[in-house]
Amino acid sequence: MNNFNLHTPTRILFGKGAIADLRQQLPQDARVLITWGGGSVKKTGVLDQVYRALEGMDVREFGGIEPNPSYETLMKAVKIARDERITFLLAVGGGSVLDGTKFIAAAARYADGVDPWHILQTGGSDISSAIPMGSVLTLPATGSESNKGAVISRKTTGDKQPFHSEHVQPVFAVLDPVYTYTLPPRQVANGVVDAFVHTVEQYVTYPVNGKIQDRFAEGILLTLIEEGPKALQEPENYDVRANVMWAATQALNGLIGAGVPQDWATHMLGHELTAMHGLDHAQTLAVVLPALWNEKRDVKRDKLLQYAERVWNITEGSDDARIDAAIATTRRFFEQMGVPTRLSDYGLDGSSIPALLEKLKEHGLTQLGERQDITLETSRRIYEAAR
Ligand code: NAP
Ligand code: FE
Repeated sequence: MNNFNLHTPTRILFGKGAIADLRQQLPQDARVLITWGGGSVKKTGVLDQVYRALEGMDVREFGGIEPNPSYETLMKAVKIARDERITFLLAVGGGSVLDGTKFIAAAARYADGVDPWHILQTGGSDISSAIPMGSVLTLPATGSESNKGAVISRKTTGDKQPFHSEHVQPVFAVLDPVYTYTLPPRQVANGVVDAFVHTVEQYVTYPVNGKIQDRFAEGILLTLIEEGPKALQEPENYDVRANVMWAATQALNGLIGAGVPQDWATHMLGHELTAMHGLDHAQTLAVVLPALWNEKRDVKRDKLLQYAERVWNITEGSDDARIDAAIATTRRFFEQMGVPTRLSDYGLDGSSIPALLEKLKEHGLTQLGERQDITLETSRRIYEAAR
């Protein structure tokens, strides 16, 4: 197992009615900006519950953060946060609202005269302070509620890039599984696939004897495989929703990735697909992952075989046959959830691959994966194989 330095300071308020404890999590004299997305939280009544919980406090709001939150929209909120001297941000929604709010938090405190897009160009490394934030999560998927990462898009230039900073890690997260009952099937499926791919990006790499991390990861994967389809069939089954929600949080709160190699190439190749073609985040992952595993089957051999056996109970046949079966079964799982796994399923014929590679190059993503051996040429083969 490799050395690590892990700090996971987000307080989790989990369960039915958890919002009752929201108020105590904020400084009582805070000037709060509530942020939300396209309106689902208004329709479902979650926003009303937040207002009731904060009654009497100094609260403003900023709505309209879109899926794959854009710099252009978020900069409007940055202006409000600065002008109104906001001291606390409360994100209410899915990963896009949370990620967007992390950007607002850092950008509002960013050096005067520097365009906050610089945060994406530097990956967040020069962030030295941010407005504290908390979250009320409505979509289990990204893990953004208790991690230090965010992914921001810039529409005018067709970019989608991540940044990381301890300064934007949420102080708390309200996770009420009941809030997820209203999710459309497509978003339930997206969430399960995203959490699944977060897990394997930190598990299907190469072995370092991180046995406990492996078992954590396998536990998350098995839970998503068991409970994911049930979340589609029984949208109001509390225990199913609770397990999916907690699994998604655990998949990317730092725990399973501590002390083990991490890949993240599927995410990086996926971001370019979303930026260029507008596919949902999880759709891009479902397309890239099977192709990437096939391409990197030698480097990932030991862990692919372990994954095949422990997650899918595939024990028959040669090593290569078991790896083939594991990749095919993973593809089938995504498709059963309702997320197609080929570029052609989304009307793409591969003609944009040269442009996608240009974007990877522009973003400095020319040595990806746990071995840093996914070059632009490897990425080209992966995109080609994903058609
Ligand atoms: P999302 O983009 O936040 O939301 C997708 C859709 O679901 C929106 O239309 C939203 O509607 C709707 N929705 C959310 N909660 C709902 C509910 N309870 N009932 C009904 N509809 C609901 O989806 P996401 O998958 O959570 O986030 C995706 C983003 O996160 C991508 O940009 C991705 O790159 C990023 N990401 C971040 C991390 C990280 O570590 N930070 C990791 C992976 C991915 P409204 O807009 O109307 O609310
Ligand atoms: Fe993701």
